[in-house]
Amino acid sequence: MKLLALPAFDDNYLWLLHDGKEAVVVDPGDEAPVHTALVSDGLRLAGILVTHHHPDHVGGVAALAARHDAPVWGPAREHVPAPFTPVAEGDTVELLGLRLDVIEVPGHTAGHVAYYAGAGLDAPLLFCGDTLFSGGCGRLFEGTPAQMHASLQRLAALPDATQVCCAHEYTLANLRFATAVEPGNAALAAYLEACRVRRAAGEPTLPSTIARERAINPFLRCGEPEVAAAAMAHGAASADPVEVFAALRRWKDGFR
Ligand code: ZN
Ligand code: FE
Repeated sequence: MKLLALPAFDDNYLWLLHDGKEAVVVDPGDEAPVHTALVSDGLRLAGILVTHHHPDHVGGVAALAARHDAPVWGPAREHVPAPFTPVAEGDTVELLGLRLDVIEVPGHTAGHVAYYAGAGLDAPLLFCGDTLFSGGCGRLFEGTPAQMHASLQRLAALPDATQVCCAHEYTLANLRFATAVEPGNAALAAYLEACRVRRAAGEPTLPSTIARERAINPFLRCGEPEVAAAAMAHGAASADPVEVFAALRRWKDGFR
C-alpha cells in the first residue's frame, strides 16, 4: 500500500492511498492534482473520504466523483457538495480491502470526522483533517475547547505507531509555538531541527506518528506541569486540562 501527500493550494495535502490498482483520496479540495496522480499511476478511484465541510477539503469532490464515478463518504452532520454516504461515530468504510473506522472529532467544525485504519497495514493510518496537526491543532471555528480537547484525547489514545495524515503543512509554525510553551522539551527541539531539514529539502514533514505528537504537541500535553504552568501564565485560571487547552488555543490564535 502506498501513501502520497499531494500538495494543493498554499499548504494543503490531499492524501492518496493506493495498492497499485485502486486508490482512495481524502479531502480533495482540488480536483487537478488528484486526477493527475490517478492518470500518471494508472489508478482507478475507488472512493473519496471527506473529514469536514471547508472548501479546501471539498472543493474537488463533485468533479472527481463525477469524472471517476467514485463513491463519496462524509460527515453525517455536515454539508458535502456532492451525493455522499453520511458516516458517524462507529461506522466503518470498506475500501482497498481495508476497514476504516469513523471517529467523530468535533471542535474545528461541529461534525468533523476522522478515519482510522488499524488492520492490514504495516502501521495504522489516521486521516484527521484539520483536527490534529503536527505540533498543533485546528482552530475552533464551530466547537468548544472542551469538545476539541476531548477529540484530541481520543486521537492521542490511538496506537503509538499510527501514521498521522494531517491536511496542512503547518508544522514549522506550530513547533515555534510549541517551543514557546515548552522550551525545555528536548524531543521537541530535536524534532524541530529534523523538520527544518525536511522543509529546506522541499519534503513534507508528514505523516507524523501518534507517539511523536504525544511527546511534542502541547495540545496533547495539557496535563504536563510545564505546559500547564505556561498556560497559566497566559490566562488559564487553573491547571484543569480543558482550561489549559483553552488558554493554549487562545494564545496560539494571537501568536506571531
Ligand atoms: Zn478546515
Ligand atoms: Fe483545511
